Amino acid sequence: TYTLGAKMSNWDEERKVWLNQNPEFPNFVNGKPRILLLTGSPPSPCDNPIGDHYLLKAIKNKIDYCRIHGIEIVYNMAHLDKELAGYWAKLPMIRRLMLSHPEVEWIWWMDSDAMFTDMVFEIPLSKYDEHNLVIHGYPDLLFEQKSWIALNTGSFLFRNCKWSLDLLDAWAPMGPKGPIREEAGKILTANLKGRPAFEADDQSALIYLLLSQKDQWMDKVYIENQYYLHGYWAGLVDRYEEMIEKYHPGLGDERWPFVTHFVGCKPCGSYGDYPVEQCLRSMERAFNFADNQVLNLYGFGHRGLLSPKIKRIRNETVTPLEYVDQFDIRHTEHGNI
Ligand code: UDP
Ligand code: MN
Repeated sequence: TYTLGAKMSNWDEERKVWLNQNPEFPNFVNGKPRILLLTGSPPSPCDNPIGDHYLLKAIKNKIDYCRIHGIEIVYNMAHLDKELAGYWAKLPMIRRLMLSHPEVEWIWWMDSDAMFTDMVFEIPLSKYDEHNLVIHGYPDLLFEQKSWIALNTGSFLFRNCKWSLDLLDAWAPMGPKGPIREEAGKILTANLKGRPAFEADDQSALIYLLLSQKDQWMDKVYIENQYYLHGYWAGLVDRYEEMIEKYHPGLGDERWPFVTHFVGCKPCGSYGDYPVEQCLRSMERAFNFADNQVLNLYGFGHRGLLSPKIKRIRNETVTPLEYVDQFDIRHTEHGNI
C-alpha cells in the first residue's frame, strides 16, 4: 500500500541526540514549546479570482497572530506528493516539517479558510504534556455517533515525535488521488454518520482510523472542546457585535471564538455548500473583527465589521509609550480592547 516515506523507527532518539548537539536550536524557548504554524493553498490561482484576495487576508490574519505570539509560520503551495494533492497535501508537508525542523516541538496545521478571531488567546499547551495530537471535537459524536464531523481537521496540532509520524503513516493510505481515494470514499460514507457520498477526505479518514484503531491511538489524542481551536463560522459570524458588547478577547470560546473556520465555503474553488456572497461577507466580518484587535495598538479600527476602511480611535499623544503599556497584547492580559 501507499506510504509517505521511509519508516522512521528511531525518530525520538535521533531527535533527542540532535537537540543535545544543537543547543542553539532548543525545542523549548523561555519554558515554552516551539510551535510552527503550517498553512497553505493550491499551487495555482483560485478558480474564483476574489478567492485570492481572501487567501491574502487569511494569511495576513495568521501572520499577525503568529507575530504577536512568537510562533513561526510556513505557507505551503507545493504538492510534495502528487498522489496527495488537494486537502490531503497537509500530510506529507507536516511530515516533512517534522523531519526538517527537529527544533520544533509542535506543528500546528491551520486551513487557509480558518482565521484567528481571538488575537489574545493562547493555546494552553501545558495541558497537553501527555498528548501528541490535539484536535477540536466531541468524544460522544466520535465514539457513539460515529459522525463525520466529530473532529475537524481544519486546525490541529501534532507533537514532533515518532508517534505522530506513525499516525501520519496510518492516516495517509486513503489519500492517493484516483481510484484509491474514490473507493475509500465509499467505505467512509458507509461507516460514518451524516457523510455525503464523495471521495475520501482527510477528516473522515482520520475519524475512521481513530474509531477502528481506538486502542492503538486514543490515549495520545486530546479531543479539545473547551475553546474553539476550530469554530464553525455559521454560528459565530453573526454574533460578533454581541461579543464586542458583552465580552473581550482572550476567552477563546463561544464568548470570543479563538478560530472561525469557513467550512464548506471554498472561496478559492468554484463550488461550495453555501452561497459565495454569504461566505465572502462572513469572511470579511471575521477578518475585520480580528483586525480591529491588531489595529487597536496603533490607535485605529475598522469603520464597521464589513468595511475595509479604518478610522482613528484615539488621539495622537506625546507619550506613546503609555499606549504601548496599555494596548500591546503581549504586555496586557486582555489587550484592553
Ligand atoms: N490545501 C492546500 N493545497 C491544496 C488544497 C488545499 O494546502 O491544493 C489546504 C488549504 O489550506 C485548505 C485545506 O487544505 O483550506 C482544506 O482543503 P479544502 O479547502 O478543499 O477543504 P475545506 O477547508 O473547505 O474543508
Ligand atoms: Mn477549511
